Amino acid sequence: MDTIAPRRLRPYSVAMRPEILYPLFAPVTSLPGIGPRMARSIARLAGEKVVDLLWHLPANLIDRRPGPDIAAATANGRGNGDYVTLILDIREHRRGGGRRSPYRILARDGQGVPVTLVFFHARPAYLQQRFPEGAKLAVSGRLERFGEDWQITHPDRVAPAAKRDDIAIVEAVYPVTAGLHQAGLRKAIQAALSLVPPMPEWQDRAWLNKQGWMPFADSLRAVHTPRSPADLDPQTPARRRLAYDELLAEQLTLQIARRKWRHLPGRIVPSGGRLYQGLRKSLPYALTGDQQRALEEIAADMGSGQRMLRLLQGDVGCGKTVIAALAAAMTADAGAQVALMAPTEILARQHLQTLQTLFSGLPCRIALLTGKLPKGEREAIRRQMENGEVDIVIGTHALFQKDIAFADLGLLIVDEQHRFGVAQRLQLAAKSRGGGAHTLVMTATPIPRTLALTAYGDMDISRIREKPPGRTPVTTSTVPRDRIDEVIAAIGRKMAAGEQIYWVCPLIEEEEDTPPAEDAGEREMAAATARFEALRRHFAAEGTRIGLLHGRMKSEEKEEILTAFAAGKIGCLVATTVVEVGIDVANATVIVIEQAERFGLAQLHQLRGRVGRGHKPGHCILLYTPPLSETARARLKTMRETDDGFLIAERDLQIRGAGEVLGTRQSGMPEFRLADPAEDGDLIEAAHDDARLILERDGDLQSERGRALRLLLYLFEQDNAIRTLRSG
Ligand code: ADP
Ligand code: MG
Repeated sequence: MDTIAPRRLRPYSVAMRPEILYPLFAPVTSLPGIGPRMARSIARLAGEKVVDLLWHLPANLIDRRPGPDIAAATANGRGNGDYVTLILDIREHRRGGGRRSPYRILARDGQGVPVTLVFFHARPAYLQQRFPEGAKLAVSGRLERFGEDWQITHPDRVAPAAKRDDIAIVEAVYPVTAGLHQAGLRKAIQAALSLVPPMPEWQDRAWLNKQGWMPFADSLRAVHTPRSPADLDPQTPARRRLAYDELLAEQLTLQIARRKWRHLPGRIVPSGGRLYQGLRKSLPYALTGDQQRALEEIAADMGSGQRMLRLLQGDVGCGKTVIAALAAAMTADAGAQVALMAPTEILARQHLQTLQTLFSGLPCRIALLTGKLPKGEREAIRRQMENGEVDIVIGTHALFQKDIAFADLGLLIVDEQHRFGVAQRLQLAAKSRGGGAHTLVMTATPIPRTLALTAYGDMDISRIREKPPGRTPVTTSTVPRDRIDEVIAAIGRKMAAGEQIYWVCPLIEEEEDTPPAEDAGEREMAAATARFEALRRHFAAEGTRIGLLHGRMKSEEKEEILTAFAAGKIGCLVATTVVEVGIDVANATVIVIEQAERFGLAQLHQLRGRVGRGHKPGHCILLYTPPLSETARARLKTMRETDDGFLIAERDLQIRGAGEVLGTRQSGMPEFRLADPAEDGDLIEAAHDDARLILERDGDLQSERGRALRLLLYLFEQDNAIRTLRSG
């Protein structure tokens, strides 16, 4: 059969990569002893390239040092189950009798204590040769105690006693997957290490000295050859150095992108035009200090002649939307269009309502474009956008579609960016003339400063921390599940007083042992439906309407239920976490969250933000099922103690890893191989400042250190940054 060899494509970046790095970027199969099968296992674990092995750090170690006799090896409660290296006199071989009973070699340590070496499926000839009777051998393996007897089953290492130093006494233990064993992986990693070429130092020497850090290659070797458990600590100098290398590469990339963005001309959008003035005059309240500051920062950006790329960060209900509306008004005043992108249909519709209310009576044309629109309507709006007949378009992902074009997009507002990737943001910005629209990203996920530096390091940040005046904070209580009847009675009283309730049903995580047919969404729905039925029966006599909302409902159904809830026709809305984002019903005063221990802090905080939006005090009831894990207890305690989203985010970062805080996969938040934003917050800040200084002095990375830094960027696969340097 004829086969056509696939043409080997050389990605652009590979072509530019410095030659000394080629061996590290070769596939792992280029290493001795690694075939396609092992390469597949390694790919699952670490990656496909040699360099990926370098970043695969040991999680544990085997210390074979205890010995040389049983007394020493079992001192201080050690011994049973631990690795040891013993010097043994080999006394006698006892062949096993049949399949069940293993082959045994009887031996004694230096003090005459018996130790048995045990072999299953033994090959006697081989064992006779390796463990000759009468020999003195160094034997290493896992020591086990059976009654009075010590034994080692299948020792890992054997050497003549005189050559005991040949036995590597401390070995790294790596995370592995099925089909991959330690010895093979260890060898592969050692081979990868031997391919690290000599490279110039890219870090500042004074900084290295101050931190007591070794050169890159030495650090890498050190992390792969731990001598004691302390060497596995993320805070060892070697691990910190490598984490810093990774963070610096990332900060350089973000700031190169940011500089490039900044150098692009942006439309000069003055503030103070007619629409802007009209909107400000019609606001029934004064802006808070934080809102005012954010607005000034936005106005300064948009009037600067450079492109704005700004993150507007603040808790739910702190008043971001009105700031975005004012920015939109400025843009419309300048004769350009605004796109507001929301993560869901419901939120897009809610924004439409909010903006229509804000702009009512003002000359501003607002349209909605979502995937759910009937064809004809969509086409009409599409044409209006193209002809400049609308000023503000609110939409979902539908705004991305190829045939969508703006007459003149001046401002892109993205709501809840953590549901969009950075790439999508850029894609939409590219729809403006010359790709030069100002961009404002709103997020209600308060992010610790250090994380913001890595997730949004290419952006300027405005924070709204202050809440509009007159809000009473939501009281939060935790109640064990066996007191659910009291909670039901309490919400009954609230509903009788005309207030409304959210009842959030447990989040059900995907579990590996669940058959696919019964997936998480379905079980969430089942749980919510059961609670809905129970509450409906309970309140049937009072004639209170209970509603049900879950992710499996059609969006028209959801819409209908939400509209009824917003209109006060439903007293209690039983829902899965679909209520999490942005739904705004001022008359809802209580939120009950079932199995609150299953939710993350950020999510609990978001959910709690659903209540306390009106003038009546809000309550958040966290129902939990004991016993609580330590982290669940810490989360619920934090919820009781504070309402400050930024503080909660800091705690969240301490309680769990950084990736989880943002939801790494959805957020476009970089996944680090070596750094841990929860551990290395100080290094993120340092890398941020370092990168800024470096680029201020040597914006094209042309100096001696700059050229070394280019290697660093390639090493951490930030090739795009270098491409940006070249083309910009
Ligand atoms: P966010 O978008 O940050 O969640 P919103 O912009 O939706 O918050 O504001 C929440 C509520 O607070 C809205 O009803 C809004 O009218 C009101 N609001 C916003 N700013 C102020 C302010 N400075 N004073 C009083 N109320 C405000
Ligand atoms: Mg909002």
